[in-house]
Amino acid sequence: MNYESKIAGHIRDLPRSGIRDFFELVIGRSDVISLGVGEPDKPTPWAIREAAIRSIEKGQTSYTSNLGLESLRVEIARYVEDFFKVSYDAKSEILVTVGVSEALDLALRALINPGDEVIYHEPCYVSYNPSIQMAFGVPVAVNASPAHDFAVLASDIEKAITPKTKIIMLNFPTNPTGGIEPVEELEKIAALAIKHDLIVITDEIYSELLYDDRVHTSIASFPGMKERTILLHGFSKAFAMTGWRMGYACAPSPLREAMMKIHQYCMLCAPIMSQVAALEALKLGRSAFEEMRLSYEQRRNTIVRRLNAMGLPCFNPGGAFYVFPDIRSTGLTSKEFAIKLLEKKSVAVVPGPPFGSIGEGYVRCCYATAPELIDKAMDLMEEFVNEVRAAKQAAR
Ligand code: PLP
Repeated sequence: MNYESKIAGHIRDLPRSGIRDFFELVIGRSDVISLGVGEPDKPTPWAIREAAIRSIEKGQTSYTSNLGLESLRVEIARYVEDFFKVSYDAKSEILVTVGVSEALDLALRALINPGDEVIYHEPCYVSYNPSIQMAFGVPVAVNASPAHDFAVLASDIEKAITPKTKIIMLNFPTNPTGGIEPVEELEKIAALAIKHDLIVITDEIYSELLYDDRVHTSIASFPGMKERTILLHGFSKAFAMTGWRMGYACAPSPLREAMMKIHQYCMLCAPIMSQVAALEALKLGRSAFEEMRLSYEQRRNTIVRRLNAMGLPCFNPGGAFYVFPDIRSTGLTSKEFAIKLLEKKSVAVVPGPPFGSIGEGYVRCCYATAPELIDKAMDLMEEFVNEVRAAKQAAR
């Protein structure tokens, strides 16, 4: 059979994730120190795991309401009000989803008519561009440049707005750079959204992981913004719950309803045991992740210091658990750097281009890795960089 002709054109034409291609080289190699995968090195805190175990023991194995357990939505509303300073009604404005991934897909599919333009900032999470395309939208990337510490300028967003623009998508702190948007710039983006009657989708998945006493500000909390914002959040990162697949969307009720329609037909509900675990996570609140956050902050300090010392300029990111060093001085492309580092020193980092074309010349390192492994990886990377430079010198 000619399968190519059977596969939907817009899926056939979608490129495979560059990250996946790269990680196929790493799979099955136990000798590799991975700074590659964006997930916490520690398992979910025990109290959260225990709550799920107890619920399974009690036989809680059924579907829940499509919206998610009411007790969980009430707790989400309380947490979001406390943390983001925006109040949402648990009954009509919150939807529990299978990770932020599902919430993002629902938001895009609920809003986009074919051809609508979605502005987002690059470098960004690898799913954004394909998710927009899978919803038949047109992705419009705006650079968040290293010259501005990977924040996006409202003036650049403004230049990208056309009569077809429907959505601005934001993610701060950002994967893969750890960049944070200054509040004044976020205010200007809010003003643009209001002026041009746009919806904002804000992916706040790293919002708890902020360093140097920073306090998170969500665009949803600005005057006039709640009514035009879909706030996405989840449990994967701060609560170390990537495998539970738990997230949620907070949105004005007509938008929540539209997302709910898709969710009820394609997903039914998030798994009940994961919802019970998430409820426990929210009850623990900050105490569940504060120790991890402080430890990430120390690891960030180490990795930023080491990368700069070996001549790979690296901005000191204010949040998330990634650094995005500039490797151009080695004379290698991002892909060559990552592949050779893996081959020669068994250290895995991710090349920058899958996060957007502005990522060429950079690699992403995740520092949610044990401190002793970060030290070892930095020693090996320094050796590698020195060897590459020596070889370049000798070839002259
Ligand atoms: N959004 C961003 C910016 C991410 O970096 C990730 C995962 O790395 C996700 C969403 C996916 O989150 P979840 O595990 O909740 O689906």
